[in-house]
Amino acid sequence: MSRLQFDNRFRTLPASLWSDVSPQPLANPRLIVRSDDALQLLDDTPSAWSDQDLLEAFSGATLMPGMAPIAQKYTGHQFGAYNPELGDGRGLLLGEVVNPRGQHWDLHLKGAGRTPYSRFGDGRAVLRSCIREFLASEALHHLDIATTRAVAVIGSDTPVQRETEERGAMLLRLARSHVRFGHFEYLFHSDQQAAMDALLEQVLALHFPDLANDKDRHFLLFQEITRRTAITVARWQAVGFAHGVMNTDNMSILGDTFDYGPYAFMDGFDPGFICNHTDAGGRYAFNRQPQVALWNLSCLALALSNRIDRERLKAVLDGYGDILHGEYLGLLRQKLGLFDTQADDEGLINDLLTLMAGQRADYTRTFRALCQLDSASGDTPAEDEFSDRDGFRRWARRYAARLRDEPLNDAQRGERLRLRNPRYILRGYLAQQAIEAAEAGDNAPLHTLFAVLRRPFDEQPEHARYADLPPDWAQGLALSCSS
Ligand code: AMP
Ligand code: MG
Repeated sequence: MSRLQFDNRFRTLPASLWSDVSPQPLANPRLIVRSDDALQLLDDTPSAWSDQDLLEAFSGATLMPGMAPIAQKYTGHQFGAYNPELGDGRGLLLGEVVNPRGQHWDLHLKGAGRTPYSRFGDGRAVLRSCIREFLASEALHHLDIATTRAVAVIGSDTPVQRETEERGAMLLRLARSHVRFGHFEYLFHSDQQAAMDALLEQVLALHFPDLANDKDRHFLLFQEITRRTAITVARWQAVGFAHGVMNTDNMSILGDTFDYGPYAFMDGFDPGFICNHTDAGGRYAFNRQPQVALWNLSCLALALSNRIDRERLKAVLDGYGDILHGEYLGLLRQKLGLFDTQADDEGLINDLLTLMAGQRADYTRTFRALCQLDSASGDTPAEDEFSDRDGFRRWARRYAARLRDEPLNDAQRGERLRLRNPRYILRGYLAQQAIEAAEAGDNAPLHTLFAVLRRPFDEQPEHARYADLPPDWAQGLALSCSS
Protein backbone atom coordinates (compact mmCIF):
# COMPACT_ATOMS: atom_id res chain seq x y z
CA MET A 1 0.00 0.00 0.00
CA SER A 2 1.43 3.32 -0.98
CA ARG A 3 1.00 6.46 1.04
CA LEU A 4 -1.50 8.93 -0.27
CA GLN A 5 -0.70 12.63 -0.49
CA PHE A 6 -3.28 14.99 0.98
CA ASP A 7 -4.00 18.66 0.30
CA ASN A 8 -7.15 19.55 2.24
CA ARG A 9 -8.17 22.77 0.57
CA PHE A 10 -11.76 23.01 1.80
CA ARG A 11 -10.33 23.58 5.28
CA THR A 12 -8.79 26.85 4.13
CA LEU A 13 -12.32 28.27 3.69
CA PRO A 14 -14.05 30.19 6.51
CA ALA A 15 -14.87 28.02 9.51
CA SER A 16 -18.62 28.54 9.16
CA LEU A 17 -18.43 26.14 6.19
CA TRP A 18 -17.12 23.14 8.08
CA SER A 19 -16.44 21.44 11.42
CA ASP A 20 -13.69 19.09 12.52
CA VAL A 21 -15.22 15.68 13.14
CA SER A 22 -13.61 12.31 13.74
CA PRO A 23 -15.13 9.24 12.15
CA GLN A 24 -16.77 6.76 14.51
CA PRO A 25 -15.65 3.26 13.50
CA LEU A 26 -18.05 0.36 13.06
CA ALA A 27 -17.85 -3.02 14.81
CA ASN A 28 -15.93 -5.71 12.91
CA PRO A 29 -15.52 -3.81 9.65
CA ARG A 30 -15.08 -5.89 6.51
CA LEU A 31 -14.68 -5.15 2.86
CA ILE A 32 -17.83 -5.95 0.89
CA VAL A 33 -16.89 -4.72 -2.57
CA ARG A 34 -14.22 -2.52 -4.12
CA SER A 35 -13.78 -0.68 -7.40
CA ASP A 36 -10.20 -0.74 -8.56
CA ASP A 37 -11.16 1.58 -11.45
CA ALA A 38 -12.06 4.18 -8.86
CA LEU A 39 -9.10 3.38 -6.60
CA GLN A 40 -6.87 3.98 -9.61
CA LEU A 41 -7.93 7.62 -9.49
CA LEU A 42 -6.06 7.86 -6.19
CA ASP A 43 -3.13 5.56 -6.78
CA ASP A 44 -1.56 4.14 -9.93
CA THR A 45 -1.33 0.65 -8.50
CA PRO A 46 -4.72 -0.23 -7.02
CA SER A 47 -3.76 -3.91 -6.97
CA ALA A 48 -1.11 -3.07 -4.37
CA TRP A 49 -3.93 -2.34 -1.93
CA SER A 50 -5.14 -5.46 -0.15
CA ASP A 51 -8.67 -5.48 1.22
CA GLN A 52 -7.08 -5.16 4.64
CA ASP A 53 -5.17 -2.05 3.51
CA LEU A 54 -8.41 -0.46 2.35
CA LEU A 55 -10.05 -1.22 5.68
CA GLU A 56 -7.14 0.17 7.65
CA ALA A 57 -6.98 3.33 5.58
CA PHE A 58 -10.66 4.10 5.19
CA SER A 59 -12.86 2.46 7.80
CA GLY A 60 -12.48 5.33 10.22
CA ALA A 61 -10.64 3.37 12.94
CA THR A 62 -7.35 5.17 12.30
CA LEU A 63 -6.53 8.12 10.10
CA MET A 64 -3.83 8.04 7.43
CA PRO A 65 -1.17 10.72 7.80
CA GLY A 66 -2.49 13.87 6.16
CA MET A 67 -6.17 13.09 6.61
CA ALA A 68 -8.03 15.81 8.51
CA PRO A 69 -11.73 14.91 8.46
CA ILE A 70 -14.40 17.57 8.34
CA ALA A 71 -18.15 17.70 7.97
CA GLN A 72 -19.34 20.34 5.52
CA LYS A 73 -22.11 22.80 6.34
CA TYR A 74 -24.70 23.56 3.66
CA THR A 75 -28.44 24.11 3.43
CA GLY A 76 -30.87 23.51 0.60
CA HIS A 77 -34.38 23.07 -0.68
CA GLN A 78 -35.90 19.68 0.09
CA PHE A 79 -39.05 18.93 -1.90
CA GLY A 80 -39.37 22.64 -2.59
CA ALA A 81 -39.00 23.86 1.01
CA TYR A 82 -35.92 25.63 2.32
CA ASN A 83 -34.15 23.78 5.13
CA PRO A 84 -31.42 25.79 6.88
CA GLU A 85 -30.37 22.82 9.04
CA LEU A 86 -28.57 20.65 6.50
CA GLY A 87 -24.93 19.65 6.24
CA ASP A 88 -22.93 16.44 6.24
CA GLY A 89 -25.01 14.60 8.83
CA ARG A 90 -23.60 11.14 8.27
CA GLY A 91 -20.64 11.61 6.03
CA LEU A 92 -17.23 13.20 6.32
CA LEU A 93 -14.69 14.59 3.97
CA LEU A 94 -11.74 12.46 5.12
CA GLY A 95 -9.39 14.59 3.10
CA GLU A 96 -8.47 15.66 -0.39
CA VAL A 97 -6.01 13.36 -2.15
CA VAL A 98 -3.50 14.50 -4.75
CA ASN A 99 -2.82 11.60 -7.08
CA PRO A 100 0.48 10.99 -8.88
CA ARG A 101 -0.86 12.92 -11.90
CA GLY A 102 -1.48 15.95 -9.69
CA GLN A 103 -5.27 15.55 -9.79
CA HIS A 104 -7.21 16.20 -6.62
CA TRP A 105 -9.98 13.93 -5.37
CA ASP A 106 -12.20 14.41 -2.34
CA LEU A 107 -12.37 11.29 -0.22
CA HIS A 108 -15.76 11.18 1.44
CA LEU A 109 -16.74 8.51 3.95
CA LYS A 110 -20.51 8.10 4.12
CA GLY A 111 -21.92 6.55 7.29
CA ALA A 112 -19.03 7.66 9.51
CA GLY A 113 -21.09 8.67 12.54
CA ARG A 114 -22.72 11.75 13.98
CA THR A 115 -21.65 15.30 13.16
CA PRO A 116 -22.83 18.75 14.29
CA TYR A 117 -25.29 18.60 11.36
CA SER A 118 -26.85 15.21 12.14
CA ARG A 119 -29.97 16.71 13.73
CA PHE A 120 -32.09 13.72 14.81
CA GLY A 121 -30.15 11.24 12.65
CA ASP A 122 -27.76 8.56 13.84
CA GLY A 123 -24.97 9.47 11.43
CA ARG A 124 -25.03 6.00 9.94
CA ALA A 125 -25.67 4.43 6.58
CA VAL A 126 -26.85 0.87 6.09
CA LEU A 127 -25.34 -1.84 3.92
CA ARG A 128 -28.27 -1.74 1.50
CA SER A 129 -27.92 1.97 0.74
CA CYS A 130 -24.12 1.83 0.48
CA ILE A 131 -24.29 -1.03 -2.03
CA ARG A 132 -26.93 0.86 -3.99
CA GLU A 133 -24.78 3.98 -4.21
CA PHE A 134 -21.70 1.95 -5.05
CA LEU A 135 -23.38 0.11 -7.91
CA ALA A 136 -25.17 3.14 -9.33
CA SER A 137 -22.23 5.48 -9.33
CA GLU A 138 -19.96 2.95 -10.99
CA ALA A 139 -22.73 1.95 -13.43
CA LEU A 140 -23.44 5.55 -14.47
CA HIS A 141 -19.75 6.18 -14.92
CA HIS A 142 -19.52 3.28 -17.35
CA LEU A 143 -22.58 4.66 -19.16
CA ASP A 144 -20.65 7.88 -19.70
CA ILE A 145 -22.73 9.97 -17.31
CA ALA A 146 -21.00 12.41 -14.97
CA THR A 147 -21.10 11.07 -11.42
CA THR A 148 -19.28 10.82 -8.15
CA ARG A 149 -17.38 7.54 -7.90
CA ALA A 150 -17.20 4.80 -5.28
CA VAL A 151 -14.07 3.03 -4.12
CA ALA A 152 -15.45 0.60 -1.59
CA VAL A 153 -18.26 -0.51 0.64
CA ILE A 154 -17.36 -1.52 4.18
CA GLY A 155 -19.81 -3.69 6.11
CA SER A 156 -20.01 -4.27 9.85
CA ASP A 157 -21.85 -5.87 12.76
CA THR A 158 -23.06 -2.52 14.14
CA PRO A 159 -26.87 -2.61 14.36
CA VAL A 160 -28.64 0.37 12.79
CA GLN A 161 -32.37 0.91 13.19
CA ARG A 162 -34.34 1.74 10.08
CA GLU A 163 -37.80 0.37 9.19
CA THR A 164 -36.23 -2.87 10.44
CA GLU A 165 -32.90 -3.43 12.16
CA GLU A 166 -30.10 -3.44 9.63
CA ARG A 167 -26.30 -3.37 9.72
CA GLY A 168 -24.20 -0.24 9.55
CA ALA A 169 -21.89 0.22 6.60
CA MET A 170 -19.70 2.87 5.03
CA LEU A 171 -19.20 3.96 1.47
CA LEU A 172 -15.94 5.51 0.37
CA ARG A 173 -16.92 8.06 -2.26
CA LEU A 174 -14.73 10.08 -4.59
CA ALA A 175 -15.59 13.38 -6.23
CA ARG A 176 -13.59 16.22 -7.71
CA SER A 177 -15.70 18.44 -5.47
CA HIS A 178 -18.41 17.99 -2.86
CA VAL A 179 -19.65 21.56 -3.25
CA ARG A 180 -23.41 21.58 -3.76
CA PHE A 181 -25.92 24.21 -4.83
CA GLY A 182 -26.80 24.18 -1.14
CA HIS A 183 -23.42 25.55 -0.11
CA PHE A 184 -24.17 28.78 -1.96
CA GLU A 185 -27.73 28.85 -0.68
CA TYR A 186 -26.41 28.59 2.88
CA LEU A 187 -24.06 31.56 2.49
CA PHE A 188 -26.68 33.67 0.70
CA HIS A 189 -29.54 33.04 3.11
CA SER A 190 -27.33 33.61 6.15
CA ASP A 191 -25.80 36.71 4.53
CA GLN A 192 -22.16 35.61 4.77
CA GLN A 193 -20.71 37.79 2.04
CA ALA A 194 -17.02 37.22 2.76
CA ALA A 195 -17.44 33.46 2.93
CA MET A 196 -19.43 33.59 -0.30
CA ASP A 197 -16.55 35.32 -2.03
CA ALA A 198 -14.06 32.84 -0.61
CA LEU A 199 -16.09 29.84 -1.75
CA LEU A 200 -16.71 31.30 -5.21
CA GLU A 201 -13.04 32.06 -5.71
CA GLN A 202 -12.01 28.61 -4.53
CA VAL A 203 -14.53 26.82 -6.73
CA LEU A 204 -13.40 28.86 -9.72
CA ALA A 205 -9.71 28.38 -9.08
CA LEU A 206 -9.91 24.66 -8.39
CA HIS A 207 -12.61 23.48 -10.77
CA PHE A 208 -13.06 26.13 -13.46
CA PRO A 209 -9.51 27.45 -13.95
CA ASP A 210 -10.30 28.65 -17.48
CA LEU A 211 -12.88 31.05 -16.08
CA ALA A 212 -11.12 32.04 -12.88
CA ASN A 213 -9.32 35.12 -14.16
CA ASP A 214 -12.15 36.52 -16.23
CA LYS A 215 -13.74 39.67 -14.83
CA ASP A 216 -17.09 38.10 -15.71
CA ARG A 217 -16.17 34.89 -13.90
CA HIS A 218 -19.23 34.66 -11.63
CA PHE A 219 -21.57 34.86 -14.57
CA LEU A 220 -19.49 32.40 -16.58
CA LEU A 221 -19.47 30.02 -13.61
CA PHE A 222 -23.24 30.04 -13.35
CA GLN A 223 -23.51 29.53 -17.09
CA GLU A 224 -21.17 26.56 -16.96
CA ILE A 225 -22.92 24.96 -13.97
CA THR A 226 -26.19 25.37 -15.85
CA ARG A 227 -24.74 23.78 -18.97
CA ARG A 228 -23.31 20.81 -17.10
CA THR A 229 -26.52 20.27 -15.18
CA ALA A 230 -28.50 20.28 -18.43
CA ILE A 231 -26.13 17.75 -20.02
CA THR A 232 -26.21 15.38 -17.05
CA VAL A 233 -30.00 15.46 -16.77
CA ALA A 234 -30.33 14.92 -20.54
CA ARG A 235 -28.14 11.83 -20.19
CA TRP A 236 -30.29 10.53 -17.34
CA GLN A 237 -33.36 10.95 -19.53
CA ALA A 238 -31.72 9.16 -22.44
CA VAL A 239 -30.72 6.14 -20.36
CA GLY A 240 -33.92 5.98 -18.26
CA PHE A 241 -32.42 6.95 -14.92
CA ALA A 242 -34.53 8.55 -12.19
CA HIS A 243 -32.55 10.19 -9.39
CA GLY A 244 -35.39 10.25 -6.91
CA VAL A 245 -34.31 13.06 -4.54
CA MET A 246 -33.28 16.07 -6.57
CA ASN A 247 -33.11 18.40 -3.60
CA THR A 248 -30.73 21.31 -4.08
CA ASP A 249 -28.35 19.86 -1.48
CA ASN A 250 -28.01 16.85 -3.76
CA MET A 251 -26.97 18.92 -6.78
CA SER A 252 -23.25 19.09 -7.53
CA ILE A 253 -21.73 22.30 -8.88
CA LEU A 254 -19.75 20.10 -11.27
CA GLY A 255 -22.88 18.58 -12.79
CA ASP A 256 -22.05 15.18 -11.32
CA THR A 257 -24.85 12.80 -10.43
CA PHE A 258 -24.68 13.11 -6.67
CA ASP A 259 -26.09 11.56 -3.50
CA TYR A 260 -27.79 8.38 -4.54
CA GLY A 261 -30.91 7.51 -2.57
CA PRO A 262 -34.06 5.91 -3.92
CA TYR A 263 -32.94 6.17 -7.55
CA ALA A 264 -34.04 3.69 -10.20
CA PHE A 265 -33.30 2.73 -13.74
CA MET A 266 -36.58 2.27 -15.51
CA ASP A 267 -37.70 -1.14 -16.67
CA GLY A 268 -40.95 -0.63 -18.63
CA PHE A 269 -41.04 2.87 -20.09
CA ASP A 270 -43.27 5.08 -17.97
CA PRO A 271 -42.63 8.81 -18.39
CA GLY A 272 -44.36 9.65 -15.10
CA PHE A 273 -42.41 7.01 -13.18
CA ILE A 274 -41.86 7.89 -9.49
CA CYS A 275 -39.12 5.82 -7.89
CA ASN A 276 -39.30 7.32 -4.40
CA HIS A 277 -42.39 6.11 -2.56
CA THR A 278 -42.20 9.03 -0.15
CA ASP A 279 -42.58 11.39 -3.14
CA ALA A 280 -46.35 11.13 -3.25
CA GLY A 281 -46.82 14.24 -5.40
CA GLY A 282 -44.32 13.05 -8.01
CA ARG A 283 -42.16 16.14 -7.69
CA TYR A 284 -39.17 14.04 -8.77
CA ALA A 285 -40.97 11.86 -11.32
CA PHE A 286 -38.81 10.78 -14.25
CA ASN A 287 -40.29 13.21 -16.77
CA ARG A 288 -40.10 16.12 -14.33
CA GLN A 289 -36.35 15.86 -13.81
CA PRO A 290 -35.50 18.43 -16.50
CA GLN A 291 -37.79 21.06 -15.01
CA VAL A 292 -36.81 20.25 -11.43
CA ALA A 293 -33.15 20.73 -12.27
CA LEU A 294 -34.09 24.11 -13.74
CA TRP A 295 -35.97 24.99 -10.57
CA ASN A 296 -32.86 23.99 -8.59
CA LEU A 297 -30.72 26.16 -10.84
CA SER A 298 -33.06 29.07 -10.10
CA CYS A 299 -32.34 28.54 -6.37
CA LEU A 300 -28.65 28.71 -7.18
CA ALA A 301 -29.26 31.82 -9.29
CA LEU A 302 -30.94 33.51 -6.34
CA ALA A 303 -28.00 32.57 -4.13
CA LEU A 304 -25.66 34.27 -6.62
CA SER A 305 -27.88 37.28 -7.26
CA ASN A 306 -25.69 39.64 -5.23
CA ARG A 307 -22.85 38.89 -7.62
CA ILE A 308 -24.55 38.58 -10.99
CA ASP A 309 -27.10 40.82 -12.66
CA ARG A 310 -30.56 39.27 -12.39
CA GLU A 311 -31.41 39.75 -16.05
CA ARG A 312 -28.29 37.87 -17.03
CA LEU A 313 -29.10 35.06 -14.60
CA LYS A 314 -32.53 34.86 -16.13
CA ALA A 315 -31.06 34.72 -19.63
CA VAL A 316 -28.93 31.72 -18.62
CA LEU A 317 -31.94 29.96 -17.13
CA ASP A 318 -33.88 30.71 -20.31
CA GLY A 319 -31.17 28.97 -22.32
CA TYR A 320 -31.17 25.81 -20.21
CA GLY A 321 -34.05 24.11 -22.02
CA ASP A 322 -32.35 24.34 -25.41
CA ILE A 323 -29.10 22.89 -24.07
CA LEU A 324 -30.92 20.00 -22.43
CA HIS A 325 -33.12 19.34 -25.41
CA GLY A 326 -30.19 19.53 -27.82
CA GLU A 327 -28.20 16.99 -25.83
CA TYR A 328 -31.19 14.71 -25.34
CA LEU A 329 -32.18 14.77 -28.99
CA GLY A 330 -28.57 14.17 -30.01
CA LEU A 331 -28.41 11.13 -27.74
CA LEU A 332 -31.68 9.71 -29.06
CA ARG A 333 -30.51 10.24 -32.62
CA GLN A 334 -27.39 8.29 -31.76
CA LYS A 335 -29.43 5.58 -30.08
CA LEU A 336 -31.46 5.18 -33.27
CA GLY A 337 -28.65 5.75 -35.77
CA LEU A 338 -30.13 8.91 -37.29
CA PHE A 339 -26.84 10.51 -38.14
CA ASP A 340 -28.17 12.80 -40.89
CA THR A 341 -30.84 15.29 -39.90
CA GLN A 342 -34.28 15.14 -41.45
CA ALA A 343 -37.37 17.20 -40.74
CA ASP A 344 -39.48 14.48 -39.18
CA ASP A 345 -36.77 12.85 -37.03
CA GLU A 346 -38.16 14.24 -33.81
CA GLY A 347 -41.61 12.99 -34.74
CA LEU A 348 -40.19 9.54 -35.41
CA ILE A 349 -38.42 9.49 -32.05
CA ASN A 350 -41.45 10.78 -30.15
CA ASP A 351 -43.76 8.28 -31.79
CA LEU A 352 -41.51 5.43 -30.65
CA LEU A 353 -41.48 6.76 -27.10
CA THR A 354 -45.27 7.13 -27.16
CA LEU A 355 -45.67 3.55 -28.32
CA MET A 356 -43.26 2.34 -25.65
CA ALA A 357 -45.03 4.32 -22.96
CA GLY A 358 -48.45 3.08 -24.03
CA GLN A 359 -47.36 -0.55 -23.75
CA ARG A 360 -44.74 -0.14 -21.00
CA ALA A 361 -42.16 -1.65 -23.34
CA ASP A 362 -38.88 -2.22 -21.56
CA TYR A 363 -36.80 0.89 -22.19
CA THR A 364 -33.37 -0.71 -22.34
CA ARG A 365 -34.34 -3.92 -24.12
CA THR A 366 -36.32 -2.09 -26.82
CA PHE A 367 -33.45 0.19 -27.79
CA ARG A 368 -30.94 -2.61 -27.63
CA ALA A 369 -33.09 -4.84 -29.83
CA LEU A 370 -33.42 -2.03 -32.38
CA CYS A 371 -29.69 -2.41 -33.00
CA GLN A 372 -30.78 -5.47 -34.93
CA LEU A 373 -33.06 -4.29 -37.69
CA ASP A 374 -33.44 -5.27 -41.30
CA SER A 375 -33.81 -1.94 -43.04
CA ALA A 376 -35.31 -3.59 -46.13
CA SER A 377 -38.32 -4.96 -44.23
CA GLY A 378 -38.35 -3.26 -40.84
CA ASP A 379 -38.11 -6.63 -39.08
CA THR A 380 -36.51 -6.39 -35.66
CA PRO A 381 -36.58 -8.44 -32.46
CA ALA A 382 -37.65 -5.22 -30.72
CA GLU A 383 -41.21 -6.17 -31.61
CA ASP A 384 -41.07 -8.84 -28.89
CA GLU A 385 -41.10 -6.01 -26.34
CA PHE A 386 -44.56 -4.89 -27.51
CA SER A 387 -47.91 -6.52 -26.85
CA ASP A 388 -49.53 -4.64 -29.76
CA ARG A 389 -47.07 -5.70 -32.40
CA ASP A 390 -48.97 -4.16 -35.31
CA GLY A 391 -48.66 -0.64 -33.95
CA PHE A 392 -44.97 -1.16 -33.41
CA ARG A 393 -44.46 -2.74 -36.84
CA ARG A 394 -45.99 0.28 -38.54
CA TRP A 395 -43.49 2.44 -36.71
CA ALA A 396 -40.61 0.07 -37.53
CA ARG A 397 -41.41 0.25 -41.26
CA ARG A 398 -41.28 4.05 -41.12
CA TYR A 399 -38.01 3.82 -39.23
CA ALA A 400 -36.59 1.35 -41.75
CA ALA A 401 -37.50 3.71 -44.60
CA ARG A 402 -35.78 6.53 -42.77
CA LEU A 403 -32.67 4.40 -42.25
CA ARG A 404 -32.41 3.70 -45.96
CA ASP A 405 -31.37 7.36 -46.30
CA GLU A 406 -28.43 6.78 -43.97
CA PRO A 407 -25.02 5.81 -45.38
CA LEU A 408 -24.38 2.87 -43.03
CA ASN A 409 -25.53 -0.66 -43.86
CA ASP A 410 -27.40 -2.72 -41.27
CA ALA A 411 -24.31 -4.44 -39.90
CA GLN A 412 -22.35 -1.22 -39.59
CA ARG A 413 -25.26 0.54 -37.98
CA GLY A 414 -25.81 -2.31 -35.54
CA GLU A 415 -22.21 -2.15 -34.47
CA ARG A 416 -22.45 1.60 -33.88
CA LEU A 417 -25.75 1.41 -32.06
CA ARG A 418 -24.54 -1.28 -29.68
CA LEU A 419 -22.10 1.31 -28.34
CA ARG A 420 -25.01 3.65 -27.61
CA ASN A 421 -27.71 1.35 -26.29
CA PRO A 422 -26.63 -0.56 -23.23
CA ARG A 423 -27.52 -4.20 -22.91
CA TYR A 424 -27.10 -4.14 -19.13
CA ILE A 425 -28.40 -1.55 -16.71
CA LEU A 426 -28.71 -1.63 -12.94
CA ARG A 427 -32.24 -2.93 -12.65
CA GLY A 428 -33.70 -2.54 -9.19
CA TYR A 429 -34.30 -6.23 -8.73
CA LEU A 430 -30.70 -7.10 -9.65
CA ALA A 431 -29.45 -4.68 -7.01
CA GLN A 432 -31.94 -6.17 -4.55
CA GLN A 433 -30.74 -9.73 -5.16
CA ALA A 434 -27.11 -8.69 -4.71
CA ILE A 435 -27.98 -6.80 -1.52
CA GLU A 436 -29.91 -9.68 0.01
CA ALA A 437 -27.01 -12.06 -0.65
CA ALA A 438 -24.51 -9.59 0.81
CA GLU A 439 -26.71 -9.10 3.87
CA ALA A 440 -26.59 -12.88 4.31
CA GLY A 441 -22.79 -12.87 4.03
CA ASP A 442 -22.37 -13.83 0.37
CA ASN A 443 -20.77 -11.03 -1.66
CA ALA A 444 -20.27 -13.08 -4.83
CA PRO A 445 -23.53 -12.04 -6.55
CA LEU A 446 -22.65 -8.39 -5.89
CA HIS A 447 -19.21 -8.86 -7.41
CA THR A 448 -20.68 -10.52 -10.49
CA LEU A 449 -23.30 -7.80 -10.95
CA PHE A 450 -20.64 -5.13 -10.58
CA ALA A 451 -18.47 -6.86 -13.21
CA VAL A 452 -21.43 -6.98 -15.63
CA LEU A 453 -22.19 -3.28 -15.12
CA ARG A 454 -18.62 -2.30 -15.86
CA ARG A 455 -19.19 -3.37 -19.49
CA PRO A 456 -22.79 -2.34 -20.13
CA PHE A 457 -22.48 -2.25 -23.92
CA ASP A 458 -20.79 -5.65 -24.35
CA GLU A 459 -22.84 -8.74 -25.14
CA GLN A 460 -21.44 -10.85 -22.26
CA PRO A 461 -23.40 -13.98 -23.30
CA GLU A 462 -22.41 -15.75 -20.08
CA HIS A 463 -24.39 -13.09 -18.19
CA ALA A 464 -27.41 -12.89 -20.49
CA ARG A 465 -29.84 -13.33 -17.61
CA TYR A 466 -28.88 -9.88 -16.30
CA ALA A 467 -30.55 -8.42 -19.40
CA ASP A 468 -33.81 -10.32 -18.82
CA LEU A 469 -37.08 -8.61 -18.04
CA PRO A 470 -37.57 -8.20 -14.30
CA PRO A 471 -39.50 -11.00 -12.60
CA ASP A 472 -43.04 -10.35 -11.33
CA TRP A 473 -41.94 -9.99 -7.70
CA ALA A 474 -39.82 -6.99 -8.69
CA GLN A 475 -42.91 -4.92 -9.58
CA GLY A 476 -43.61 -4.16 -5.94
CA LEU A 477 -40.12 -3.11 -4.88
CA ALA A 478 -40.52 0.14 -2.96
CA LEU A 479 -37.71 2.56 -2.31
CA SER A 480 -37.66 5.36 0.20
CA CYS A 481 -35.27 7.98 1.48
CA SER A 482 -34.65 5.79 4.53
CA SER A 483 -31.07 4.93 3.87
P1 AMP B 1 -30.06 12.82 1.94
O1 AMP B 1 -31.52 12.55 1.79
O2 AMP B 1 -29.21 11.58 2.08
O3 AMP B 1 -29.53 13.74 0.89
O4 AMP B 1 -29.87 13.58 3.33
C1 AMP B 1 -30.47 14.82 3.63
C2 AMP B 1 -29.84 15.40 4.87
O5 AMP B 1 -30.07 14.55 6.01
C3 AMP B 1 -28.33 15.59 4.80
O6 AMP B 1 -28.01 16.75 5.53
C4 AMP B 1 -27.82 14.34 5.47
O7 AMP B 1 -26.53 14.49 5.98
C5 AMP B 1 -28.84 14.11 6.55
N1 AMP B 1 -28.96 12.70 6.94
C6 AMP B 1 -29.50 11.71 6.22
N2 AMP B 1 -29.45 10.55 6.90
C7 AMP B 1 -28.86 10.82 8.09
C8 AMP B 1 -28.52 10.03 9.22
N3 AMP B 1 -28.76 8.72 9.27
N4 AMP B 1 -27.92 10.65 10.25
C9 AMP B 1 -27.64 11.97 10.20
N5 AMP B 1 -27.95 12.75 9.17
C10 AMP B 1 -28.55 12.19 8.12
MG1 MG C 1 -27.91 14.61 0.45
